[in-house]
Amino acid sequence: MIKHLVEQSMRVRSSSLQGRTALITGASSGIGLATAVRLVLEGCHLHLVARRKERLTELKLELLNLNPIVNVIIHCLDVCSADAISQLEQSGALESDIFLNNAGLAKGLSSVVDAEAADWSEMLNTNVNAAFKLSKAVVQRMTTTGRGDIIALSSLAAHTAYENGAVYCASKHALRAFHESLRLETIQHGIRVIMISPGMVNTEFSLVRFNGDVQRAEAVYEGVNELDAGDVAESILFALKQPNHININDILIMPQQQGNPWRVHRHASR
Ligand code: NAP
Repeated sequence: MIKHLVEQSMRVRSSSLQGRTALITGASSGIGLATAVRLVLEGCHLHLVARRKERLTELKLELLNLNPIVNVIIHCLDVCSADAISQLEQSGALESDIFLNNAGLAKGLSSVVDAEAADWSEMLNTNVNAAFKLSKAVVQRMTTTGRGDIIALSSLAAHTAYENGAVYCASKHALRAFHESLRLETIQHGIRVIMISPGMVNTEFSLVRFNGDVQRAEAVYEGVNELDAGDVAESILFALKQPNHININDILIMPQQQGNPWRVHRHASR
């Protein structure tokens, strides 16, 4: 009765990523950077996108030191710029068969009444408009080849909204709904659409949210054994390495001390 289950448990079930090509937006720090490291160690070729050139240049060198037989191409661009898609197209980056749609940010932590219009525009332009356009451009190629994995960096905020984060939460709800629709539209093309929804991850995220205010950013993680970027990269690799017949739709991953966006149990000291 259980023979096939025992046999299955002894088979290597994870798919190799060796030789595949991944396009990662937001590769200059945090989750994107950590995933780049994991993918290079798996033998993937990379197209890395972010605005900070020095960071990408240094990262490329370090990645090639880790694995000299992969190709690493850097693209210093703003995903919101009018020619972002055409630049990526010309360089062949849109032909990647893994796309980590990760570049994103929160700006400010204010009520709807007090929030800055410019912060709303930046979040909506990056997390929604640019992210949607990039997935569209990549999926157009994937449908012709009949293969590909799109991983969208969603958030706990895509599942549960919180006070003073209306537009960030709205942007991540939108990203999630968009990729759920996309999954339904691409089932017949052999494409997997995966979402990763983290809670608190200690990256540059809070530093960006609070405009470089280090004290405010550090206070977010005070007394919490929070996630780090490598923890999230591990989840991404788990989803990607599943056999082709398995689509991990969404991984909601949080620190043990976080119950929801506002219920965080903090220790007096770490
Ligand atoms: P991070 O360390 O601030 O990384 C964000 C990355 O996005 C950076 O590489 C940044 O690079 C890039 N980026 C931002 N705007 C860009 C633009 N207009 N054009 C090109 N690149 C841009 O933050 P992170 O935590 O790794 O965030 C990655 C994703 O995870 C985001 O979508 C975020 O919403 C999501 N997330 C984070 C958390 C968390 O607690 N950290 C939780 C849930 C979800 P440059 O500045 O060099 O352009």
